Amino acid sequence: MAKVIQEREKCVGCGACAAVCPKYWEMKGDGKSFLKDSTIVEGNHVLTLEDPECNTEAAEACPVKCIKVEE
Ligand code: SF4
Repeated sequence: MAKVIQEREKCVGCGACAAVCPKYWEMKGDGKSFLKDSTIVEGNHVLTLEDPECNTEAAEACPVKCIKVEE
């Protein structure tokens, strides 16, 4: 299992996550990205998956390191 975590407050809206991993990330009208189907846990957006898939690339691409993948 993998847990994808976004500290959405830190997102600077660069669009990199949505570019490399559009299956799971989209840009929202407030200028920040959104982790699709995520739930808010302790202020972070969290999604649990069997396989992290392209979220690993999204985490690596994020310039402010606000995406984490825990396996
Ligand atoms: S890569 Fe990081 S800073 Fe850029 S939109 Fe995604 S979460 Fe926000």
